[in-house]
Amino acid sequence: MRVGRYAPSPTGAMHLGNARTALLAWLHSRVVGARHLLRFEDLDRGRVRPWAYDVLRRDLEWLGLTWDEEYIQSKRLDLYASALEHLPTYPCTCTRRDIQAAIQDSAGAPHGTEPVYSGTCRTRPSHPDRPAALRWRVPDLTVCAQDLYRQETLCQHLPGEVGDLVLRRNDGVYAYHLAVVVDDAAMGVTDIVRGADLWPATPRQIALQRALGAPTPAYLHVPLMNDHAGLRLAKRDGAPPVRAYREEGTPPGRLLAELARSLGWTVPDEVTAADLQGHWRAELADRGLSPPSS
Ligand code: GLU
Ligand code: ZN
Repeated sequence: MRVGRYAPSPTGAMHLGNARTALLAWLHSRVVGARHLLRFEDLDRGRVRPWAYDVLRRDLEWLGLTWDEEYIQSKRLDLYASALEHLPTYPCTCTRRDIQAAIQDSAGAPHGTEPVYSGTCRTRPSHPDRPAALRWRVPDLTVCAQDLYRQETLCQHLPGEVGDLVLRRNDGVYAYHLAVVVDDAAMGVTDIVRGADLWPATPRQIALQRALGAPTPAYLHVPLMNDHAGLRLAKRDGAPPVRAYREEGTPPGRLLAELARSLGWTVPDEVTAADLQGHWRAELADRGLSPPSS
């Protein structure tokens, strides 16, 4: 059985860009005949807004993007804790400043946007008196990710381009990369449709899957929608959340039609989510991915 998911962080209102990703994840699950999960990624308690869970659920229901099962990461901490026991980790007490300083001392500039941790604490924590994060001692491997939607491959050398990842922060919060990999494995997720911002993080997530003996799902990273440019329904200043359209009585079909048009799909002024399945089917076919015939 194939399984897809939409995994929002309940840190605020759902904007049109999030809604478009939610729509594509839902369409994919429907088109390939997958069970569709909703998973709230709420481990970073400082960023969570308690009202956001219900608003997200209502926005999704209003758009017709239904789900078969719901999960909440903050209720699954035991799973992340036991996964961590299966990985080689070490405590790290470095501050952001320590890490920056070590990078400036070392030869080459860091690859990519994030600084690569140089492994100062691999042998012993530099400040045993401070609260420690747990870092994964990454294996000396190059890991490649494949994306079926972008039709690209991305390879990263773990020590050189990723570095020893923090899997549990020094305040006890489990890292997103760990939780996402543990959950996708536990939930049997086979198909991941998500925003393109996560594409560069995919090789490290695949590395974690391998270290935990979990299978690698199919990845489809869909373009992000920036500030709703070109959407007729977007207000000129700022970006109204989906909730605002829902509460002011906009028909959900109009919002769906605008989201579809922003993908270059030709659709009538009002559509249902189910009406858009043919467009996603065509996108898959364009990439040589034929979904099972329904
Ligand atoms: N929770 C992540 C986000 O809100 C998505 C994680 C994923 O799809 O893997 O961007
Ligand atoms: Zn350190």
